[in-house]
Amino acid sequence: MSTDIQRVLFVTPECAPLAKVGGLADVVAALPKTLRRMGCDVRVVMPLYSSIARQRHGIQVDGSACIHLGGGVEHWVGVHTGRLDGDVPVWLVDFADYFARPGIYGDSGGEYRDNAFRFALLSKAALQLCKDRAFLPQVMHLHDWPAALSAVFLKTWDRIASPLSTCASVLTIHNIGYQGKYPGDAFGYFGVGQEHFNSETFEDYGQVNLLKAGVRFADAITTVSPTHLHEILSPEGGLGLAPYLTSRTQEMTGILNGVDYEHWSPEVDPLLPARYSAHDMQGKAVCKETLQRYLGLEPRPDLPLFGIISRLAPQKGIDLLARTLPAALTNLELQLAVLGNGEPEYEDFFRWLQWGHRGRAACHIGFSEELSHMIEGGADFFLMPSLYEPCGLNQIYSMRYGTLPVVRTTGGLKDTVESYDQDSGEGTGFRFDDTTDSALYNTIAWAVSTWFERPDDIQRLRRQAMARDFSWDASARQYLEVYGRAVEHRAHL
Ligand code: ADP
Repeated sequence: MSTDIQRVLFVTPECAPLAKVGGLADVVAALPKTLRRMGCDVRVVMPLYSSIARQRHGIQVDGSACIHLGGGVEHWVGVHTGRLDGDVPVWLVDFADYFARPGIYGDSGGEYRDNAFRFALLSKAALQLCKDRAFLPQVMHLHDWPAALSAVFLKTWDRIASPLSTCASVLTIHNIGYQGKYPGDAFGYFGVGQEHFNSETFEDYGQVNLLKAGVRFADAITTVSPTHLHEILSPEGGLGLAPYLTSRTQEMTGILNGVDYEHWSPEVDPLLPARYSAHDMQGKAVCKETLQRYLGLEPRPDLPLFGIISRLAPQKGIDLLARTLPAALTNLELQLAVLGNGEPEYEDFFRWLQWGHRGRAACHIGFSEELSHMIEGGADFFLMPSLYEPCGLNQIYSMRYGTLPVVRTTGGLKDTVESYDQDSGEGTGFRFDDTTDSALYNTIAWAVSTWFERPDDIQRLRRQAMARDFSWDASARQYLEVYGRAVEHRAHL
């Protein structure tokens, strides 16, 4: 028997276009929109960061709320409301001490040291706002460690005699590499009872681990691709959480992220200098030349242009790139356009790379929505050699833009990119397995030789990649099924 799901609250640290660090923001923007189209009343709660352009997004003050935390702490927070693209209502929690800062998780000085407190407040506010505003969701859908505590609060603070006592929780792990580990003395702030500070729940070698607590308390757990689900159940891929996840296998599902093609399609993308489609690719040549000129690359239509858009973190295979790109730029006929920000030594590497290969390599350090679309449109290949990749969105965007992904066979990259078969001409990109410099180098060289020696195959791969459909509908239906199972799980406790 499947439960009819009508009301869901998303709890999240990021949501595009208001606040974005990575793919999570795109998912949390697109999935509610699709679910609402399917008739489900989805709302979103997130912090009001000072970086959010309130006026531009029509965000308005809408009262306040009193949030109760451990040790009798009470915080009065402001509540702001707005509507996201697709008409999704969003509540923004305004607490200047925690959220009026330049970054979401941290700034140039590193991660904010009080993140456990900041996101505990968000997680508790989610419950309070539902009660204050009489929106009683059947499910709270929690995104990554910053929202994981809502699962705990639903089963501790709101266990009985609460309008939320039957509300189920679904925890989505977008990136298990970030678990929210903080000094153990943050625990008192959560107000959930000392008995939960044990190694099965919160405790992780003396620290609190928020994602681990969420895994223990959520009614269902998902991750963002079927392959990554298997990976996180292994000791290596679980990054310390495999035993706890394994004990919840029955309640776990891998659901591939979708793409919002209203924002990511070369036919309609307003951020491209020219639009194009699989039937008429002329605009792609304009995009390439514009990108080359914009970034100071030689305007050479004949050279294959490789793009990278990435958080500059070890997970993304930046060390592999650092060991491979200098040789690739020296030995192979190619150009490179990079957009990224993150760890300072990686940023320095790309600055140095540009300096050594002017006209052939351009590296823009920073975050730019506009340039990210220009690279998707203007590049010929997209490089994503991730060590692990829960889903990955850029390779999926790239396919739609006819920009062939060159990826490592891991997680969602494996589930979305079909490797080129030279005999049949089938495929949508180029894949390699090993995390070695030579595997990456040889795959870049393979793409380059295909560009020069088999241009018809490149056209064919492009057409095939552009025809792949990763729209949200199928994945949203899978989420509705998971929500239904979570509600049943909650009812049987
Ligand atoms: P992750 O969430 O691990 O960072 P994904 O591939 O799932 O990786 O999603 C990354 C998202 O963030 C994409 O929408 C990508 O375009 C965007 N992105 C990453 N770095 C930048 C940047 N420096 N500027 C603009 N967009 C970026």
